[in-house]
Amino acid sequence: MADIETPRIARAGIFGIFIARQRDTEDAMGSGMVEERVQEVYLVRCIHCETEYDACRSPWCECITASPSLVCPECLACFCDADAAARRRFWWDAPRELWRRRLDRGYRELLPEAPSEEAAGPGRPLALIADDDPASRCIAGRALAALGFSVLLAEDGERACQLALQHQPDLVLTDCLMPRLDGKALCRRLRGDRRTSGARLVMMSALHRGASVDRNLLEETGADEFLPKPIPWETLAQAVRRWAATAAR
Ligand SMILES: [Zn+2]
Ligand SMILES: [Zn+2]
Repeated sequence: MADIETPRIARAGIFGIFIARQRDTEDAMGSGMVEERVQEVYLVRCIHCETEYDACRSPWCECITASPSLVCPECLACFCDADAAARRRFWWDAPRELWRRRLDRGYRELLPEAPSEEAAGPGRPLALIADDDPASRCIAGRALAALGFSVLLAEDGERACQLALQHQPDLVLTDCLMPRLDGKALCRRLRGDRRTSGARLVMMSALHRGASVDRNLLEETGADEFLPKPIPWETLAQAVRRWAATAAR
């Protein structure tokens, strides 16, 4: 038997947040001894389909970002694309249980950095990831490894260029803004060198949005593709499939 205490409206807004503490009482043994657990419930309204769901029971999304969000059980969309203020408010109001899950996950995801200079395994395509943010680098690395790549990681454009000339990766995923050598200059250099000119170059950025910006960026740098950050897992997988299709030709 479960009952929900009168929900308290925490704050109105895009998420329409309610907080309630659910009290589960259970008499499992039928002995009259009642065990009582208090569970936190964090009701939020999906920004896409407006379904109300309990964020405490929702799985994390698979977006390639250091701070992923949660998935709506109805439309399966996350809220990584909500504006920053709304996401901040979500976390301000989030109950302890959800914070604990977030921290647990953060430590598990971020601690072991993928091996940074493993040569390509036989039959595996090689991807090079250049990003000065260690969390993004690591998460993108894991995602590409899961998609079948051997992975090289570089923390700036200069290092990425060095690794690319040395190992000749099939795919280069680079952040736009980086110290020492930015993503645009990196793409131009790799396109201009015969050792790396055939690589698939994918630029990612949290700052650039909009189709015309993308086109200019691609023309200017010789990159094949542009992905706005945060990148959902499925978007990265599609980019990999597009690369595989061109490589097979
Ligand atoms: Zn939804
Ligand atoms: Zn997401």
